[in-house]
Amino acid sequence: MPLIAVIGSINVDLSCQVLRHPEPGETLMGRGGKRSPGGKGANQALAATLQGGHVRFIGAVGDDPEAEVALELLRAAGTELDLTVTSEPTGLALITVSMAGENTIIVVPGANHALDAAQVEKKVADLPEDTIVVLQGELARATTEAAIRAAHARGLRIILNNAPFGELDAALYPMVDPLVLNEHEARLALTSLGGTLSASKNPVTEATENCRELLTFNIPSMIVTLGAHGAIVADPEIHHIPALPAKVVDTTGAGDAFVGALAARLAAGESLTEAARWAARVGARVTERPGAQSSYPTRVEVEEAGR
Ligand code: ADP
Repeated sequence: MPLIAVIGSINVDLSCQVLRHPEPGETLMGRGGKRSPGGKGANQALAATLQGGHVRFIGAVGDDPEAEVALELLRAAGTELDLTVTSEPTGLALITVSMAGENTIIVVPGANHALDAAQVEKKVADLPEDTIVVLQGELARATTEAAIRAAHARGLRIILNNAPFGELDAALYPMVDPLVLNEHEARLALTSLGGTLSASKNPVTEATENCRELLTFNIPSMIVTLGAHGAIVADPEIHHIPALPAKVVDTTGAGDAFVGALAARLAAGESLTEAARWAARVGARVTERPGAQSSYPTRVEVEEAGR
């Protein structure tokens, strides 16, 4: 099975609950204060490993105790780790959840942004022949762009989840196969490329139309995820994959689990549509448990759920 190389961010998520968010200058008491592993790259690497992929996570951490918290579940799952240790602190996400269920999140990239273009070019040069490279939007933009160019020059398949959305050189879009975005990111991508946004109020119709328009920018294949409305897959024929029923507890990390699961199934030789159907099953399961990485199911758990 081909190697899946996830090049991306790794953080410690520090989360707490508050009755309400503080005003500027105000101190409030909170509850929780749990530190858990996070970062979109690490989340996707874990999901791909748990879904049976042979995964290498390429990222950067600080020379600090937080790095071990961030790596805990990747180590336990047996993900290969190719880490750059920097003098910057391990990436940190400060998450506050109010009683009303509203989140505020501050991300401090730290070590993640110390990973530079030259370092990732060298890592990509060392990957085996048929590797699938998975990238997101949490590394420095120049680093992500360098990784896309280096992987494409080697003829490697690239899955780009451009989330959080960041403007990319338009010449890079034809190099990714597939581009994975949620509905908000799809709108941002179309706007940045100068395309025409769908005016439909129906989420599935809107995403389908936006997807069709994005494909005119020479993107070989793409997926738009729609939360409880499932996903649109363009391979390049466009299909809608409905979401699986879920008793939703917490949707955190569903998008990353979807991308990781997608990579695992593509590596196993499935078509984009087949892989996305499996990824939607994984995404639905993730919403039924609290947390991000701690909510990720194994392949067997998804099979046993039978839906
Ligand atoms: P993101 O977190 O990046 O916005 P989504 O919310 O679109 O990602 O979730 C990714 C995938 O997870 C969806 O395409 C869907 O298959 C699954 N999913 C997410 N939320 C739900 C839900 N409420 N019910 C069932 N499946 C869901």
